[in-house]
Amino acid sequence: MKSQLNQLCAYEPGLSPEALKKEYGIEGELFKLASNENLYGPTPKAKEAIKQHLDELYYYPESGSPSLRKAISKHLNVDESRILFGAGLDEVILMISRAVLTPGDKIVTSEATFGQYYHNAIVESAEVVQVPLKEGGFDLEGILQSIDDHTALVWLCNPNNPTGTYFDQETLNDFLERVPSHIPVLIDEAYVEFVTAPDFPNTLELQETIENAFLLRTFSKAYGLAGLRVGYVVASSDAIEKWNIIRPPFNVTRISEYAAIAALEDQAYLKEITHKNAIEREKFYQIPQSKHFLPSQTNFIFVKTNNSKALYDELLKVGCITRPFPDGVRITIGFPEQNKKMLEVLKDFNY
Ligand SMILES: *Cc1c(COP(=O)(O)O)cnc(C)c1O
Repeated sequence: MKSQLNQLCAYEPGLSPEALKKEYGIEGELFKLASNENLYGPTPKAKEAIKQHLDELYYYPESGSPSLRKAISKHLNVDESRILFGAGLDEVILMISRAVLTPGDKIVTSEATFGQYYHNAIVESAEVVQVPLKEGGFDLEGILQSIDDHTALVWLCNPNNPTGTYFDQETLNDFLERVPSHIPVLIDEAYVEFVTAPDFPNTLELQETIENAFLLRTFSKAYGLAGLRVGYVVASSDAIEKWNIIRPPFNVTRISEYAAIAALEDQAYLKEITHKNAIEREKFYQIPQSKHFLPSQTNFIFVKTNNSKALYDELLKVGCITRPFPDGVRITIGFPEQNKKMLEVLKDFNY
């Protein structure tokens, strides 16, 4: 057994709504606002697409998801040879780590970011350098200073989970120009569809000139397909060719592939969802207590408090399951009814 597994734990899902109801003696409905899923669900067209392919379940999927590849290639205007799909971004992160990292390598990332960069690096015997946050967001200057001869991957998350914060185009440009061009910089944009800031980086355009800038996206969040597991990376065709060797042959299922295509095609639905999210998000920043919230460009908000357990409990009492961290609580923005209840709690809370 790899000895480094002793340093890690298996992923721990929070308690289920049923278990929480029992533990806290809650009567009414409980809403899961702990994992940043899109409560509105996917476009009905995705469900239609699934139905159309139900008679093909006994066939393996087409390896490499060629139909979805065509659709993404067209949507983003990038060559098909530059896209690799995973069973969610989680699997993409695993494949890249497995393909690239060897003992003695380092990855550089931030503190307080998505845990899978760290997890997979440790599994592959690499060392993890975690640069502290600066004013609640990624410190790209600090990350740049931490890059050395052993750095094999840099992981950025923009906007970042769990903070919801982002770095702008100019900051990213300046950073990428100074990172040695042989080091892949992986930019996880799981929440990009929710962004409204006009100075958010256009990473697709950046990729045309900076060849080690790679981006990751998923159908789990704004597209509402977390249950189906589809994510992808856009990178150089050389990198994709190598990483594809790691990919399990039939990793993305047939129904996932067709549901994702239908979701991608319904951009009007996506726009409606993200617009609703932006309106609801703004309601949180209207209250004076929002000075305790980190600024969010996503469908969740990080509330800073040293009483995170108490805030988590208060939110649970009004029917909302959130995600506690040592220095705060991350709440996924819900339907207007739940947001109203959460806002009442947040107005009264002793931070
Ligand atoms: C949710 C999330 C992922 C994982 O997405 P899947 O495609 O569901 O595996 C990756 N990165 C970030 C930052 C996320 O929040």
